[in-house]
Amino acid sequence: MKIERVRAFQVDLPLHEGSYNWSGGKSVEVFDSTVVAIDTDTGASGYGEVCPLGPFYLPAYGAGARAGIRELAPHLLGEDPRQLERLNRTMDAALKGHPYVKSALDMACWDLLGKACGQPATTLLGGRFGAGATLYRAISQQDPDAMAERVAEHRRAGYRRFQLKVGGDPGIDVERIRATRAVLEDGDVLVADANTGWLMHEAARVVRAVREVDVYVEQPCRTYEECLQIRRRTDHPFVLDESVDGLTPLLRGHADGAMDVVNLKISKLGGLTRARQARDLCVALGIAMTIEDSWGGDIVTAAIAHLAHSTPPELLFSCTDFNSYVTVSNATGAPRRSQPGSADAGLLTASRQPGLGVEPRWEVLGEPVFETAAAV
Ligand code: MG
Repeated sequence: MKIERVRAFQVDLPLHEGSYNWSGGKSVEVFDSTVVAIDTDTGASGYGEVCPLGPFYLPAYGAGARAGIRELAPHLLGEDPRQLERLNRTMDAALKGHPYVKSALDMACWDLLGKACGQPATTLLGGRFGAGATLYRAISQQDPDAMAERVAEHRRAGYRRFQLKVGGDPGIDVERIRATRAVLEDGDVLVADANTGWLMHEAARVVRAVREVDVYVEQPCRTYEECLQIRRRTDHPFVLDESVDGLTPLLRGHADGAMDVVNLKISKLGGLTRARQARDLCVALGIAMTIEDSWGGDIVTAAIAHLAHSTPPELLFSCTDFNSYVTVSNATGAPRRSQPGSADAGLLTASRQPGLGVEPRWEVLGEPVFETAAAV
């Protein structure tokens, strides 16, 4: 199997709630997503997607994804998409860094590997565990009462795990945490994610003020070192996200006892190949994980489902169904959160079709932004 053509498409993903807001006043109304199609000499095509959380979350942005994919595409022509470690070495040799650029290409090659084997990606990523992967719902930053209302609403829809966007004014953040915890029940999980937004003195005030509240604290401050200091000053369970962008910080965090849970985002790590590596290391070390991506539509959601559903459930803290946040569907076949009242409410279930199990909605993708093909 050889890669003959790489195409990239730009898709806007508006939000049902109008906007998504998090620390420091950061807000996005329409996410800029990039879908890639990799066509091969067998006639099989694979699909991947990358969607940064706006241009100001991680060092990643939509136009950058497309520029990087255009840069890499010629290096992939003639390569076997099933040989994923080889393929990632080729990408790393051609372009240093830029993991998010490589993510969509790597994802599309996992789709092709699955199609070539006639197996869902879940099987190739280690096997299928249980009925599905436990979801969390992210609660965009608003006034405390509005956030509590949203939590109650999503609880009725079957979610039992919630991630509050805090990292604003510490006093209001304390109210946000208290107001949302008050509408939850025993067994429900609440995470306060500051997304690097607090200075150390602010984080210290918040964790002390909510000392008696059952809440996890996620990435309170900008750097790993600051987070580690806060971790040592609180007994709340602790999650690291932005600081862990590869195996080195993951191993360091484990050695320092810096976190109880780590957030693995597929594009932050550079694709399913690298995310699987980090996932397997976490399994071996006993570190619980949230498995997700920075953002995305149906194709990213499908990839998350395969990685999360192939993770031992006791180590899977939660995952995300991004396709339920956005108004545009970019592919058919992606898993959809099951409806409230059903036995698997609050779970994301990976497709049993070969590969990722998705087919792009070509009418939504439109014309490619560019295509790179082998000379005939
Ligand atoms: Mg986070």
